[in-house]
Amino acid sequence: MPMKVGVARETTAGERRVALVPEALGKLTAAGLEVLVEAGAGDGAMIPDQAFKDAGASVVATDELYAQSAVILRVQKPAGAEVSRLRSGQAVVGLLSPLLDAALMQTLAGAGVTAISLDAIPRTLSRAQTMDALSSQANVGGYKAVLIAANTYGRYFPLLTTAAGTAKPANVLILGIGVAGLQAIGTARRLGAVVSAYDVRPETAEQALSLGAKFVKLKTSIDATGSGGYARALTPEEQAAQQAELNEVIGNQDVVITTAQVPGRKPPLLVTAAAVANMRPGSVIVDMAASALGGNCELSRAGETIVTDNGVTIVAPDNLPASMPASSSQFYARNISSLLLNMVKDGALALDFEEEVTKATVITHGGAVVAESVKKLLAPAGGAA
Ligand code: NAD
Repeated sequence: MPMKVGVARETTAGERRVALVPEALGKLTAAGLEVLVEAGAGDGAMIPDQAFKDAGASVVATDELYAQSAVILRVQKPAGAEVSRLRSGQAVVGLLSPLLDAALMQTLAGAGVTAISLDAIPRTLSRAQTMDALSSQANVGGYKAVLIAANTYGRYFPLLTTAAGTAKPANVLILGIGVAGLQAIGTARRLGAVVSAYDVRPETAEQALSLGAKFVKLKTSIDATGSGGYARALTPEEQAAQQAELNEVIGNQDVVITTAQVPGRKPPLLVTAAAVANMRPGSVIVDMAASALGGNCELSRAGETIVTDNGVTIVAPDNLPASMPASSSQFYARNISSLLLNMVKDGALALDFEEEVTKATVITHGGAVVAESVKKLLAPAGGAA
């Protein structure tokens, strides 16, 4: 009997992505897997059930999906009702945010569920690049953030000379040159803006230049290269120096797009209320880092758009990848299928904990939390893990 892999319908508010798209089915069936799709799973991404059937999947009701699947594929972590449907021996794969919700991991472990999280992939391992959902989704986000900025800005992005006059190009500043920032630079350049960009990892300067942006070099040189390709948090002194210099740069921008993150911490504050007060009316800030933890802009409110007294619009969009569900699902489907196939042998899930990707992404297994990072979070304060 082939192993059954189920594709869940997402239930988080505003989530329009789906974990698998019909085009991605072939690789799974070729590996001897049978694919079940929860009815309506593709609705948000405008993928009809019939398209999944045509690609070889069976479309089933929710009860049947959870009863029959050995592995459930999803985008977001399961919500309460979905958690209670999962059973011992079953595996669930998705962007489970284990470090933000260690309690859920403990619940899944207690229920005997194997939880596998795409956000724990070792991102510098080149073999794992096709599985890197953080990158594929950040890419969509960086692109969409620029479109939102352009749509909100009341002027042209490109230089335009017409019989009715000349439009000056927009000055766009991208703060944080990771995956999202690089895509934002490319997209803003394609729209004709004059783009500058800044990051605390010096290696990003060349990447920004190669995409046609100017790298903002502060007088106070800061190298905050951390581990795994990420940035480390700045010291209070570095942060103060950065803020003072950035305030000046920000005042000359029409559009600022912020994408800066430091793993496991709240996002760094890069655009202060004072910097916003210095911006011209009509300027736009899109804060991609904004969440309940705060954002890169002091004034942004997650999920909201506000206009300040001095006429600056600050957009803090929620879940940008979900606003382009067809593309984000297409890329995500590739990521999750690659990850799954990496763990399948002879048509069945075969976890090899010596293998790097398995070791990093399997969070719970055999009734226990196995990921060290999550175990640490669950250990009683002061107690041994
Ligand atoms: P991220 O979302 O964690 O952060 C976004 C950017 O914010 C980073 O470039 C970071 O340096 C920057 N940042 C942090 N604090 C800042 C501050 N105070 N001021 C300005 N900028 C600040 O990062 P990400 O986009 O997920 O990826 C980060 C890195 O990992 C990139 O270099 C990326 O290329 C690398 N990466 C490598 C691989 C690979 O090798 N296969 C895969 C994915 C990502």
